[in-house]
Amino acid sequence: MIKKFIRKILGVKSAPEATVAAVSNRKPTVLSAKEHGINPQLVSANAIRVTQTLQDNGFKAFIVGGAVRDLLTGVKPKDFDIATNATPEQVKRLFRRAFIIGRRFQIVHVMFGQDLLEVTTFRGPSNDAAPKDEHGRVLRDNTFGEQHEDAARRDFTINSMYYDPASQTVLDYHGGIKDIRKKILRIIGVPEARYREDPVRMLRVVRFAAKLQFTIDPATQAPIAVMAPLINNVPAARVFDEMLKLLTSGHAMACLQELRKEGLHHGLMPLLDVVLEQPMGEKFITLALANTDERIQQGKRVSPSFLFASLLWHQVLEKWEAYKAAGEFPIPALHLAADDVLNTQTDALAIQRKIGADMRDIWAMQPRFEKRVGKTPYKMLEHQRMRAAYDFLLLRCASGEIDAEIGEWWTAFINGDADERERLINSKPKAPAGASAAKKRKPRRRAPRKAAAQE
Ligand code: ATP
Ligand code: MG
Repeated sequence: MIKKFIRKILGVKSAPEATVAAVSNRKPTVLSAKEHGINPQLVSANAIRVTQTLQDNGFKAFIVGGAVRDLLTGVKPKDFDIATNATPEQVKRLFRRAFIIGRRFQIVHVMFGQDLLEVTTFRGPSNDAAPKDEHGRVLRDNTFGEQHEDAARRDFTINSMYYDPASQTVLDYHGGIKDIRKKILRIIGVPEARYREDPVRMLRVVRFAAKLQFTIDPATQAPIAVMAPLINNVPAARVFDEMLKLLTSGHAMACLQELRKEGLHHGLMPLLDVVLEQPMGEKFITLALANTDERIQQGKRVSPSFLFASLLWHQVLEKWEAYKAAGEFPIPALHLAADDVLNTQTDALAIQRKIGADMRDIWAMQPRFEKRVGKTPYKMLEHQRMRAAYDFLLLRCASGEIDAEIGEWWTAFINGDADERERLINSKPKAPAGASAAKKRKPRRRAPRKAAAQE
């Protein structure tokens, strides 16, 4: 149905062109060190070790993809992928710590200490026989191929270059170097067909455009608005992975704005439909993402659970209010709201169980920050997720959801010595508006035991 509709709108004729979507240029442009200007100091010693070993054993081997793109823009790549004509078995035999992983397409993880390099065998063209879903998404395609075929299967021209550290040459099959210089993001082949084969590429357009601050080539951009619903057919776990990459790209806010501009947020994450339309929610998310971007740009880690807990918080808040208004006690009401939000979200975006559990902890700890008497604040300090929950509390204060005083109190309590902590506890802070409102409301029915017990 969707497929027909999209074809009609785009005037695309029926199926087989998906298979010839990417034109396979046999002859690459070869650029010398002087022409491409890559700084060899930015190339990881382990990546050189891997390409060298493979080449010494008679195979072709190159650094490929994002790392080459980053090197060409003078950025130190965060990881290095290697492409080779050796099969996974042949690669595995050459390294002491090498593991074949993946079912859809086997790749090899080569480890040196903590450093992990992904080694992929050149992939061949997808053919008509490759199994597809009813919308044309390729389900399994495990054929090896020639280097020029591998280049044609990659997503964007700028992601389709190969760097050989030994000769210091770059092989460019699809005009990537020109596009990098002009700052243009261009998909390889026929855009509609490439999105149909793999709708996740639409999310990747958004991520790279925002992250690199590149202009999207008009032909690459045009079909996205119409084809966006195809994302709904992609397995939720894959969408989650790509969303996580997008949110931790260091340009999360720009990515979300771009997602919205392209109409990709509808249905993708229910939260984005709802939350970005509420002023309070938008403020909270803007702050959370600005914070995340800053951390990433400083090379700090961000936790996916904190990120998703932030994105979904205003949905939780809304449902929490609704349960309380229906007479539920505040704490069980919060757990019920968390259940609802996590369950709904899981359909579109498979939030892993562990991440879901951590998100729940961060949310569930929020009302406990209001109990600033007796032993509770000390117990909070020992809680495994205190740091994340406290950061979350500060975001709530900064967004104007709760009184800034509560955040200041906790900052002083965390940083204070024993005397200061006692003094703070005895200073009898004013009860925040949320807490007193919750207390005044008379519950009409008893809380379910299980939810209450979790608190
Ligand atoms: P980043 O720096 O964010 O990791 P990247 O370009 O390395 O960017 P990856 O997701 O690591 O992105 O993918 C590595 C390479 O694999 C890409 O550069 C691209 O050549 C290819 N690739 C990844 N995903 C796809 C896809 N869905 N379709 C086609 N090619 C892809
Ligand atoms: Mg990468």
